[in-house]
Amino acid sequence: MNDSLPLPSKHWPEMKPGWVWLCGAGPGDPGLLTLHALNALHQADVVVYDALVSAEILEWAQGAELIYAGKRGGKPSAKQVDISLHLVQLAQKGKRVLRLKGGDPFVFGRGGEEAQTLIQHGVPVRIIPGISAGIGGLAYAGIPVTHRDVNQSVTFVTGHDQSGLTPGSLDWEAIARGSQVIVIYMGMKHIAQITKSLMDAGRSGDEAVAFVTSATLEHQSVVETTLQRAVKDVKKHGIKPPAIICVGQSVLMRQVLDWQSLAAGNPPRNLDPLGKGCPAESV
Ligand code: SAH
Repeated sequence: MNDSLPLPSKHWPEMKPGWVWLCGAGPGDPGLLTLHALNALHQADVVVYDALVSAEILEWAQGAELIYAGKRGGKPSAKQVDISLHLVQLAQKGKRVLRLKGGDPFVFGRGGEEAQTLIQHGVPVRIIPGISAGIGGLAYAGIPVTHRDVNQSVTFVTGHDQSGLTPGSLDWEAIARGSQVIVIYMGMKHIAQITKSLMDAGRSGDEAVAFVTSATLEHQSVVETTLQRAVKDVKKHGIKPPAIICVGQSVLMRQVLDWQSLAAGNPPRNLDPLGKGCPAESV
């Protein structure tokens, strides 16, 4: 048990030998780690981590062996089986294994596959969710993933399928028609096809789009553009993964909600970007 954590130790589950805790590390800022994740970092013998887990977070692994299992950019996922089996082996050796993934392990993170393999091999598993980049990363950019005046639903999409191609199985027309706000993970490689598909399916070229790169980290950057201009702006600004792409009017809310810019002393760009009336004006 862990007395250095900020609640009495009865709240902190003990990591038992032979267990794997499959855990989300959030989008990057160490402050967005859950307390369960921190507890796990303090107890683990081995931490098997992905590319998007930040170095600062790994520093909290006290004396644990660190094993990198990263994969980037939708490359063929043949190694996934190896990673899962490696976790099985570590657990079978009696290690306390922390499998640490960026964001949430069950959101485009193959967490389900890893947990399934572990359970199929009789390895006990605990799942610790994390803040997903498509929600928390957008919040750091001042973009609310839902906003009452904009959307009653949100669609999370991956720009890659298992073979690394744009998901042919995605019905872009249905997404374009049915979802006011679309949040795209791993979308940089196929951004031209994605934006074209959305416009072909009826979304306006003027619709707002934001690219949030290295969200929640110190070097976070945000580019606001439109569906029509997105590809040009990706080139112009040299936008590189990892980026979360948000399509929809909620992007406009950044004009008032860019709290990092406000904290730096800048005024809001527009107090009422959706033109819904501004209570502040009538006070
Ligand atoms: N399980 C993760 C997603 C893994 S897929 C989660 O829940 O967030 C990897 C993709 O997530 C990246 O290509 C990028 O689209 C997005 N992503 C993860 N962390 C990010 C960050 N800090 N900034 C921007 N995008 C991020």
